[in-house]
Amino acid sequence: MNLIRRFFGSKKIDCPRCLGKGHVDWDDIKRLKKELKWMTGPCAYCEGKGKISAELPSKIAVDATYLTTDLSSKERQKLITKDEAAIKRAKEFELHIDNFIAQVEHLHFTTNIEPNEIADYFLSGQNKSEIDLKAKNQLIDYIERIIKQKTDFKTPDFKVIETYQHKEKYFIKTAKWDWLNEEQIFLVQKDDKQKNKMTTMDFWPQEMFLDADGKTKIKDYLKKLIQQYKDSDMDVPPDLDEFMIENLESLESDLSAIKIVDQPTVTNPVYEIPLSKQK
Ligand SMILES: [Zn+2]
Repeated sequence: MNLIRRFFGSKKIDCPRCLGKGHVDWDDIKRLKKELKWMTGPCAYCEGKGKISAELPSKIAVDATYLTTDLSSKERQKLITKDEAAIKRAKEFELHIDNFIAQVEHLHFTTNIEPNEIADYFLSGQNKSEIDLKAKNQLIDYIERIIKQKTDFKTPDFKVIETYQHKEKYFIKTAKWDWLNEEQIFLVQKDDKQKNKMTTMDFWPQEMFLDADGKTKIKDYLKKLIQQYKDSDMDVPPDLDEFMIENLESLESDLSAIKIVDQPTVTNPVYEIPLSKQK
């Protein structure tokens, strides 16, 4: 090292991956959103030193998935000097992991396959005698983490329902109704002048009206709605509980179409059965 470099050597900064600790812990992994891609251990970005040269982030991203301690120092150097082949390998590596995660999610959430069977599926190309049990268990652990992450992500924490005064109550139909077409129903009620009035509803109020069977607690009905979102592989809205409560209360007080009751209640058949099916 020449004298100039020694005194004015490249500026060092705290490692942005491990925040200067020299090792990557779960907080770092979560902060960089690498929960399914890294394990805890010595930091590969600063090589465990806690400090990096200030130029490093301009050469390689702090969250580059491929840059782990599994990488040889030769490959690391190639990445930093932006060697094309190494960059291509890094991209392929990332793609390979993303594909694996997507396959696990599909197998579990769409095809309902359990983690150990998913592991068998990925190991099916191998001879039974060649399968290392420890490696298989690690694979199962990893698959379980993928599933848990997706499940947590898909199920927000619902707070409104917890303090809702009617959460332990049930709801029943209190209006006559019939099918308008294959998708839509209408309510038949009397207006102020005792004339028949027809009312149609938006999708969700209609669903909730049709589900008003007097047998389901409101807090359990929320779980049912959550499951419907999950079954159709949709993200559960974070305010689903509030949305459900607003709709139920509006069905009760604005439309008089349902009633919230304290006990499980059998719905009057004139409200339960569509008008055209009644004798
Ligand atoms: Zn570091």
